[in-house]
Parts: sequence; structure tokens; C-alpha cells
Amino acid sequence: MNAVVDDSQQFDSGLRDEPMRKHTSWRVGGPADRFFKPRSVPELQRILADLSPDVPVHWLGLGSNLLVRDGGIRGAVIATAGLPKDLTRVDDQRVRVGAGVACMLLAKQCVRFKLGPAAFFAGIPGTVGGALAMNAGAFGGETWNHVESVLTVDRHGVVHTRPRTDFAIAYRTVRGPAEWFLGATFRLEHEAESSMATIKAMLARRNAAQPLGVPSCGSVFRNPAGDFAGRLIEQAGLKGRRIGGAMVSEKHANFIINAGGATAADIEALIDDVRATVERQFGARLELEVRVIGEPETTSSGGRR
Ligand SMILES: Cc1cc2nc3c(=O)[nH]c(=O)nc-3n(C[C@H](O)[C@H](O)[C@H](O)COP(=O)(O)OP(=O)(O)OC[C@H]3O[C@@H](n4cnc5c(N)ncnc54)[C@H](O)[C@@H]3O)c2cc1C
Repeated sequence: MNAVVDDSQQFDSGLRDEPMRKHTSWRVGGPADRFFKPRSVPELQRILADLSPDVPVHWLGLGSNLLVRDGGIRGAVIATAGLPKDLTRVDDQRVRVGAGVACMLLAKQCVRFKLGPAAFFAGIPGTVGGALAMNAGAFGGETWNHVESVLTVDRHGVVHTRPRTDFAIAYRTVRGPAEWFLGATFRLEHEAESSMATIKAMLARRNAAQPLGVPSCGSVFRNPAGDFAGRLIEQAGLKGRRIGGAMVSEKHANFIINAGGATAADIEALIDDVRATVERQFGARLELEVRVIGEPETTSSGGRR
């Protein structure tokens, strides 16, 4: 445990009313009251220690799994993307990586190290911190299958090293102490045949099946046991269904895209509509994979949009 805060670091006083649409892959979301993008762990510790305990704190990686409502966030957002891009080979099998590192970078570096399985990380367009929080997975691989230990920080800015056994892990679910991830040590295996061609082939398969290049959050719903959310949505005839600027992708039914000018309210209304239609037709209740945070926008008369 280490509570040291380095005073020599320049302190980030944060931005006020920062539009979250600039930080989410759906390109929607109202303003966050406070927005911090620390450049170092000591700076991050200092921000947490200085924030009044009653200020809610939200963590942000690359915003690729986040729907922020149009009224924005009352509280503080901490963006990890500015943290040092630490990625170190510890020994023959282990790699230590910081939370702000992009999963794609982790995948490519592990291929260079001839360590795997890690190429699947190339399919996750977020940070390592986000992948740890979500137990993100692609192409049969899952983040926590390879975690040996994690570095976390608590609300007071105190850093902890925790073994994997401190967390309960399931499909896209991670339960553990009320702390956030600063990094992880992954234990991998020697993979002589690992190459950039593996990553390229994975991305080509993905490109053929998913609407990449348009604002989305990837899969909106978790797959129900033994089935696929995309299959149920497609079978319900919902491909192309539109509310405002939000549309169920024609290419992959579990993707909702921002087809132009969507608000978070449009996306949320379409989520509700898809869920209700699938439940009515098949009796299956779809659970969200994306995380929804923030306040709905209020109209001038005080009502919700
Ligand atoms: C085109 C597309 C394809 C996708 N494909 C996949 C896929 O194949 N598999 C898959 O699993 N996901 C997929 N996703 C979803 C998304 O990329 C993953 O969930 C990813 O892990 C989110 O990472 P992020 O850094 O963007 O997190 P964010 O979206 O910024 O945050 C997601 C959640 O994690 C929390 N969080 C972020 N960083 C930390 C931290 N350091 N400590 C604690 N909590 C934190 C946030 O508070 C939030 O609750 C896809 C998304 C898109 C847009």
C-alpha cells in the first residue's frame, strides 16, 4: 500500500462543464461538472484526495462502452487516457500494463513479445482499464483469463496491489473492492506463431460483420445464456429501426449507431423500444452491456426530454 503523493507534479485543476460527447464513441453526452485528465499516478492520487468525499467520481477510458445522458454528469470525471502509456515485459511470461494504454497497443506489443493469447485485445477499442472493468472479450478471449494481479486506487487516492482472487469474474462482469484500476499484470504464454497477420485477419473478420467507422458503442446488450442478442433483435425485425438520429444497424443488429445528430435520449428510447419488442415477441429480457450514466436533459418547464 502506498499513499505517497508527489508534490513536484503539476496539479490538474480540471475543466468545468466539459461536453462528454467529445469523449464517448457514440458522440453524445452532456457536460460533466468537473473533468480531469491526470498525466501521472501521483497527480491522480492528489485529485482524488482533494475532491470533497461527497463528489461522485466517474471513470472514463475511451468512452467506447458508455452512454452519457444529455443532461451530463453531476460530479467529476477522471479520464485515464492521459496517464503514462506504461507497458513492460516483466519476465518470460508476464506483462505489466497501465490502465490508460489502448487495448490495441497491448495486442500489438504482445505479438512482438511472442506472448499470447492477447491478439484478441485488438478487437476491443478501449483502454486496458475499461477492459478490466468490463471483463471485455473478443474472438473467444476474455481480459480476466490472463490477469495475475491489478493495481487499484481508492476514493482517497491510496494505491493497492490486489491479486486476481480479490475479484469475482463472470461474462462482462467484475465484482470486487470499491476501487478503480490503474493497471494489471497479465500472465501469458509463449506463442511462437503469433504475428501481426493474426491481428489483421481478426480485424478483417470484424470489419465484415460490424458497422465500424460510424459512432457506436459496440454491442448494446449482453448475450443471453445460449443465445445472441443480435439474433433476437434481427428476428424481431428491428434492423434499421430508427428513433431520431439513433438507428439499429443494418449490418449488426446488436449495434445502435448514431446515424447523425442523435441525442442520448434518442439512443435510450431506442434501447427501451428494442428491449420491449424482443421481450414481447420472444419472452427474453435483454440486459444492457453498455453503461448508462448521467442526468436526463430537463426541458425549460422542468420536465424530462
Ligand atoms: C466498434 C466497437 C466494438 C466493440 N467490440 C467489443 C468487443 O468485441 N468486446 C467487448 O468486450 N467490448 C467491445 N466494445 C465495447 C468496449 O470497447 C469495451 O467495453 C471496452 O472495454 C471499454 O473500454 P473503455 O476504455 O472505452 O471504457 P469506457 O467506455 O470509458 O468505460 C466503460 C466502463 O468502465 C469503467 N472504467 C473505465 N476505466 C476504468 C478504470 N481504469 N477503472 C475502473 N473502471 C473503469 C467506466 O467507469 C465505465 O463504467 C466495442 C465497442 C465499440 C465502439
